[in-house]
Amino acid sequence: MINPFDDIYFMKRALQEAQLAFEKNEVPIGAVIVMNNQIIARAHNLTETLNDVTAHAEMQAFTAAADFLGGKYLKECTLYVTLEPCQMCAGASYWTQIGKIVYGASEEKRGFLVMNTTLHPKTKVIGGVLEEDCSKLLTRFFIEKRNLN
Ligand SMILES: [Zn+2]
Repeated sequence: MINPFDDIYFMKRALQEAQLAFEKNEVPIGAVIVMNNQIIARAHNLTETLNDVTAHAEMQAFTAAADFLGGKYLKECTLYVTLEPCQMCAGASYWTQIGKIVYGASEEKRGFLVMNTTLHPKTKVIGGVLEEDCSKLLTRFFIEKRNLN
């Protein structure tokens, strides 16, 4: 039997969050945190709205998930995020001890991989899930933004 709750299913939910960011004129990055096939936190980038460079989708999702669970560790959880996390978010994920990170598009300039940010040793990583959809949304955003200026 096929499990309907797979990485693609949850990445689509993260993409819906990214779409919400897009509609607010925010760089369209979305995230959800999943535990036992259940979404316990959803968030999107709000750096413009909150005028806060730390308001990345992942940071808010970590806070919301810890809130939901009533504990700060996310060992049994998976983070789905449409873009490879930056070093700030990867660093925060270290402290959450999150079980798994699944990301969509790669961030070759400012992603945690090129920055050599250390994840928690127990955190598994999968990249490239729905990569094309995730990066298309970002590309469309920057093209539209350029045309406005
Ligand atoms: Zn980040």
